[in-house]
Amino acid sequence: MVIPIKIGISTCLLGENVRYNGGNSRDRFITDTLGQYFQWVPVCPEVECGMGIPRETLRLVGSSENPRLVTSKTGVDHTDRMLGWAREKLTVLDGEDLCGFIFKSKSPSSGMERVKVYHPNGGSVNKGIGVFARTFMDHFPRIPVEEEGRLHDPVLRENFIENIFALKRWRESLMNGKKLGNLVDFHTRHKFLFLAHSEKHYRMMGKLVAEGKSFPLDNLYNQYELLMMDALRLRPTVKKNGNVLLHMVGYFKNQLTKDEKEELVLTIDQYRNEYVPLIVPLTLIKHYVRKYDQPYLKQQSYLNPHPIELKLRNHV
Ligand code: SF4
Repeated sequence: MVIPIKIGISTCLLGENVRYNGGNSRDRFITDTLGQYFQWVPVCPEVECGMGIPRETLRLVGSSENPRLVTSKTGVDHTDRMLGWAREKLTVLDGEDLCGFIFKSKSPSSGMERVKVYHPNGGSVNKGIGVFARTFMDHFPRIPVEEEGRLHDPVLRENFIENIFALKRWRESLMNGKKLGNLVDFHTRHKFLFLAHSEKHYRMMGKLVAEGKSFPLDNLYNQYELLMMDALRLRPTVKKNGNVLLHMVGYFKNQLTKDEKEELVLTIDQYRNEYVPLIVPLTLIKHYVRKYDQPYLKQQSYLNPHPIELKLRNHV
């Protein structure tokens, strides 16, 4: 059974005319590219909490940590209305099994960071979080979140999408039941992926799995998931990926010819010097994994973390 990857999203990003002026903020990368892989769960906090279309614009007013949601001209405070609706909405979203959320940037309801907050006596700072976005992130601290604008940055895009697919594989593994053997298998298959994010977390997760028999399974799985999502939030860098690639070369010690090994190490060096993108050494490694049927590497999710059609590793 293919389980859809459900992603929550600010409705206006899908091209729905729900903005204050009756327009939308359609993002073509989201609708045309990501839309082929994800099942959207649209959320428009302002419309769903009962404000009409068109409507007066809103702004955050007060302190950056705990601002009020207020109409820009007439000064009507909609904070309690929004929070009351959000609490109910979150219980609905609890049942959706979301693997991520894409927020509309800068919105006083949906913005994930750097939303303008106005001081009552003048001036503003870009330090706020939209009222719904904050409630969502507090309720689902382990779900990967991003904004549409940041998804145009190749590194942030790669990391967000990689996290979504990792969380999906984790959920699929949970469907096979919480068993120590399943956890060992998951951890083994994700070794290089986790190492590319954080060696420290990978080691902590490994220690946890090794001591797994001493914990109740629910507790073990919960601790592991927490560490995993913390690890995935730390972005891979050229240095970290370079170390992972060199580590992989070690698995071909007895198989690669001298020429093949030299070529592979040279290609990894070219990546480490940022002359070629990650996809280049990875393609060569995948070729050798196939050619020599390398049993340990061929199960590594690092080599196939998301559909190649997304072309993510061409830019990092
Ligand atoms: S930014 Fe959020 S509240 Fe505003 S129109 Fe888009 S989905 Fe609705």
